[in-house]
Amino acid sequence: MNKLKETKSLCPECYKLIPAMIVEKDNKVFLEKTCPEHGHFSDVYWEDYDQYKRAMMYENIGVKLDNPRTKVDRGCPYDCGICPEHNSHTILAIIDVTNRCNLRCPICFAHAGAAGYLYEPTKEQIKEMLEDLRSSKPVPPPALQFSGGEPTVREDLPELVSMAKKLGFEHVEVNSNGIKFAESVEYCKTLKDSGVSTIYLQFDGVNADPYIVARGFDLLPIKLKALANLKEAGFRSVVLVPVLVRGVNDNQVGEIIRFAIENRDIVRGVNFQPVSITGRINRSERERMRITIPDLMKLVEEQTDRLITRDDWYPIPTVIPLTRFIGKLKDRSYVDFSVHPHCGMATYLLIDKEKAEPITRYLNVDGFLQTLKHASKLVDEGHKTRAKMEIGASALKNINFGMLRKYLLPVIWKGSYESLSKLHHKMILIGSMHFMDPYNFDVERINRCTIHYATPDKKIIPFCTMNTLHRKNIEQKFSQPLEASKMTPLYDVKEFLSKSK
Ligand code: SF4
Ligand code: SF4
Repeated sequence: MNKLKETKSLCPECYKLIPAMIVEKDNKVFLEKTCPEHGHFSDVYWEDYDQYKRAMMYENIGVKLDNPRTKVDRGCPYDCGICPEHNSHTILAIIDVTNRCNLRCPICFAHAGAAGYLYEPTKEQIKEMLEDLRSSKPVPPPALQFSGGEPTVREDLPELVSMAKKLGFEHVEVNSNGIKFAESVEYCKTLKDSGVSTIYLQFDGVNADPYIVARGFDLLPIKLKALANLKEAGFRSVVLVPVLVRGVNDNQVGEIIRFAIENRDIVRGVNFQPVSITGRINRSERERMRITIPDLMKLVEEQTDRLITRDDWYPIPTVIPLTRFIGKLKDRSYVDFSVHPHCGMATYLLIDKEKAEPITRYLNVDGFLQTLKHASKLVDEGHKTRAKMEIGASALKNINFGMLRKYLLPVIWKGSYESLSKLHHKMILIGSMHFMDPYNFDVERINRCTIHYATPDKKIIPFCTMNTLHRKNIEQKFSQPLEASKMTPLYDVKEFLSKSK
């Protein structure tokens, strides 16, 4: 056994913070911890030690907020947030606009029926949360996601989207099961007109099986109809979001990527989410379901016939030298993608006519990163023009494809959302983020989280502490009793299926 690092984690029984050790055994990485009361826990952390080491090479520590919202008191993860110890600012802010939902998925414990209360911030509360997020310094979050429950069950969702756009969020996403989109093109148009940039569509696979297991019904026809309606309404940016469970849909990752490529006129990305385990569950059950990022990378390699190999993936902080260089060049702050390297990995597929290939076939990532770091130093020393010339020369040497140069260089020179959006429309993001649960929780990762919930008491809470520790308290504090009249009825999936036959 090879000890890799000491950290802290949660006891999955009593949720107390306990010391933990990340160790390597037989080229796999485990998180080991012992609670004085509840005993020893071991969970696979990263399936592949070589990839664990490789990801760490791209580590970049982020920037603290100038205006944290809480004080250091009990220590991480109890002081959320954002507390003065947090080492990243918000890239994607999330607001849960309701816990009502028109489905009752067996894997979900968050909907109002299961929670036993109604959490639904008022429009005024949401405005205050948006304003509070935008007041973050040195740089406010550029992107916002409305989530839930199912956010589309709120009648005023288009108004909330417009409000967010007016307050300065350049990118506004809606995270949805797709039912409302499948029902009406008009509704899709209303959301598009209100300013929604991207639909984050739950999409567990390309046949009925994973939906029946995870959601209780075959929802695939609804997903396909939702995509068709969104397209008709003018959307050109949908991210497919499969929750990945071993034995349920791990045999579909290649097919899901092929589906994304076939639908490249509207699908801008696939964000695989290895399942995070809620509730108490014994070790063998956990091992049966658990899947980690390197597992996914291996499955993608196998199921795409090596179109995407495991070495095509890079951890999220890899892009930091790029954003920092742009920031220096433009003399303004940009958000840092400073999440922990073990939180997420991604690659891009470049789309050129009928061909889709990983960006790494055309871009020498490490060579270009070296130039960006050196060019940043040159800007610091007052040599902006030389820095630009170095980037231009490095682009010729390290970017082996005119189309990529054509779209990437404007991102560097202009640093605008528009130039980034044009680049994104030439690519499909294949990404993965492994949200933590009490079994694999690592405070070192949470300390750098960039995906943050806003709450009605003007706190900003990192995603994985919200979902492991804080959600129930916050929602109960701001919830109303659940009256039957306020429940959203279960959508009649069977009727949809019979009508669409
Ligand atoms: S997760 Fe971040 S905000 Fe929350 S207590 Fe830890 S350092 Fe502070
Ligand atoms: S949401 Fe969880 S997995 Fe994602 S960056 Fe934050 S801590 Fe890491």
